[in-house]
Amino acid sequence: MQKALVKALPKIELHCHLDGSVRPHILEKIAQEELIPLPYKGQLLAEKLIAPEDCPSLSIYLEKFDLVLPFLQTEFALELIAYDLIAQVAEENVTYIEVRFAPLLFNQKGLNLTQIITAVLKGLARGKKEFGVQSNALLCGMRHHTIADNKQVVQAVSDFSQNGVVGFDLAGDEANYPTENFSDVLNFAKEAKLPLTLHAGECGCPHNVMTSIKLGATRIGHGIAIQKDETVIKTCLENQTVIEMCPTSNFQTKAVTHLADYPFKKFLDAGLKICINTDNRTVSNTTLTEEYLKLEAWYGIDYACLEKLNHHAIDGAFIDSKQKEILHSIITHGYSTSIKKTIS
Ligand SMILES: [Zn+2]
Repeated sequence: MQKALVKALPKIELHCHLDGSVRPHILEKIAQEELIPLPYKGQLLAEKLIAPEDCPSLSIYLEKFDLVLPFLQTEFALELIAYDLIAQVAEENVTYIEVRFAPLLFNQKGLNLTQIITAVLKGLARGKKEFGVQSNALLCGMRHHTIADNKQVVQAVSDFSQNGVVGFDLAGDEANYPTENFSDVLNFAKEAKLPLTLHAGECGCPHNVMTSIKLGATRIGHGIAIQKDETVIKTCLENQTVIEMCPTSNFQTKAVTHLADYPFKKFLDAGLKICINTDNRTVSNTTLTEEYLKLEAWYGIDYACLEKLNHHAIDGAFIDSKQKEILHSIITHGYSTSIKKTIS
């Protein structure tokens, strides 16, 4: 595949964290505006924000978020990083993106949930106006937060459901806080008919994927561990569960350590609805273009496979069937015309 063409093709992304996608120069801008001293600048800052390719552990990966978080506590900062994320994805022709964030991580300076969510939505809307990229937001509950706090986030998804918030996710330490601990929270979301995509099966535990599906998730973030359990794979197939794979991140966080253990091909051949995502554009130092090219280098995938992965993403997107139809035709048309042009 040609990098320039891969970059130009229309794309869909379902799994991208706002706070993991803050570019260094944007962080510098926030620090300057808010008069907060930034411990690093320039290239050194960029290095501090990126997790090493061979990250020694998940905790080192997560430390990168600790560096950014104190700067994301104002409406100015939240609006700016959301806008800038749209600017970033526009550069590689992302047509539709679902941007996720945990609003209760942004209340350290007293912002309330409404202020936090409104600021992010404002940034996304400004991005749409300027770059034409469609987006929606997903709100993440955090596994180490209380049930009451997470229920509050579910309520916020419901309150903003007509204004660009389309689903709920559970993020954070999956190993120590298994999905069944959150059945109350997830049942609350289910009663309100809110779409669910849950991080699960990143820590090596296929059981969490099964529990997530039982509790109403139609999409699974990562899902790597299901390769160990044919019953869970069967359940995903029966439910047409969309698996949001994030190749670079999966290696950095040690969800897998060897390429031979990465289940991309296994999932694809099994007929699972997988799609490809960046997870964190800054922390994982990646783009969708880079992720696609990595898959080509690893598995020799072609344009037809890429197109299929994008259609899977649309199938899983938390939008109505009419919007899906439009996106499917943008992808189909984009691939057929661009690739035909290259061949001729
Ligand atoms: Zn994630």
